Amino acid sequence: MRPFSYSRAEDIDTAVNEVTAHEDARFIAGGTNLLDLMKIDVIHPQHLVDITHIAHDTIENTEDGGLRLGALVTNADTAYHPEVEKRYPLLAHAILAGASPQLRNKATDGGNLLQRTRCYYFYDKTTACNKREPGSGCAAIDGYNRLHAIFGASEHCIATHPSDMCVALAALDARVQVTGPDGSRTIPFEDFHRLPGDTPEKDTNLREDEIITSVDLPPKGFADHYTYIKNRDRASYAFALVSVAATLEIEDNVIKDARIALGGVAHKPWRNKEAESLLIDKPADRDGFQAVAAAIVKEAKSFRYNEFKIELARRSIVRALMEASQTYQ
Ligand SMILES: Cc1cc2nc3c(=O)[nH]c(=O)nc-3n(C[C@H](O)[C@H](O)[C@H](O)COP(=O)(O)OP(=O)(O)OC[C@H]3O[C@@H](n4cnc5c(N)ncnc54)[C@H](O)[C@@H]3O)c2cc1C
Ligand code: SF4
Repeated sequence: MRPFSYSRAEDIDTAVNEVTAHEDARFIAGGTNLLDLMKIDVIHPQHLVDITHIAHDTIENTEDGGLRLGALVTNADTAYHPEVEKRYPLLAHAILAGASPQLRNKATDGGNLLQRTRCYYFYDKTTACNKREPGSGCAAIDGYNRLHAIFGASEHCIATHPSDMCVALAALDARVQVTGPDGSRTIPFEDFHRLPGDTPEKDTNLREDEIITSVDLPPKGFADHYTYIKNRDRASYAFALVSVAATLEIEDNVIKDARIALGGVAHKPWRNKEAESLLIDKPADRDGFQAVAAAIVKEAKSFRYNEFKIELARRSIVRALMEASQTYQ
């Protein structure tokens, strides 16, 4: 690991000032992703601003009836919070499908949104990777691309976003609150992560001098009809090959609202709102679920080693919707 300097911020303004004042500075929260990347020299910030002592570590009700998750709340405290378990069980299930208990005790909600891809070549400095070194090429396109994207990829990068939590947040239409030198702003979750396009080095639309202060959940939590399915190589401690967060609002067996977010398949949690709308005012049955799954995977494009993901996604969407249509707390 290369030498770096360190400072600790006790509030948001100090954190933003510190990251702006130092060249090539990064915030550090739980450190579970950042430090791994520093140890293998994939990233090498010159200064770290420790934000773990900032008091954004609580979960509170919002005025509109939703819930505000402070950016420094740990993934474990979020998943086991009584209000999350009761009102947003989809989020609790998705978080608990990720990583390990030890990691979830350390990892923060803000950090989870900003974790980097698990593309093997991104971590291997001997290979070409436009995300690690813009302009160097993409070893995955003609390489071993089993983990890689089937939606929204570009000729410059076919990586996927690895988070489970973010798939649930995408389905719930969360909003990300951020603060920078010019003040605060709200980023709708669907605009937070980016597709790779011709700038795969940028994972999100967060500026480098901005800090995430909270993630806000809207009032609607779909606590009656939800599911999170994660397909992976091992039963635990593995990233998703394909995951599905599905939520339904059902009245008299007629669907009134539906959300389907996919993980492990694109550079961001993947939603197709046009396909979701096919379910509205229709009965909650397998025929309708198969039609929407077919509409979603119609846009998929595979590479040499990940063709299996298309059929896996199609079947997982149907299964998730079947389960969601039957869940009650
Ligand atoms: C072995 C292993 C297995 C894992 N398995 C899974 C899994 O199955 N599913 C899953 O979803 N995740 C998994 N993870 C990832 C884990 O969830 C993330 O590493 C964690 O959520 C990151 O949070 P952190 O607080 O440790 O972030 P850090 O490592 O501290 O930071 C990550 C990035 O976010 C930035 N950052 C952190 N907080 C803020 C903030 N408030 N504002 C602005 N920038 C910020 C940092 O500068 C850094 O760039 C795994 C990790 C490991 C090591
Ligand atoms: S897929 Fe993206 S992260 Fe992986 S090697 Fe290509 S450019 Fe790098």
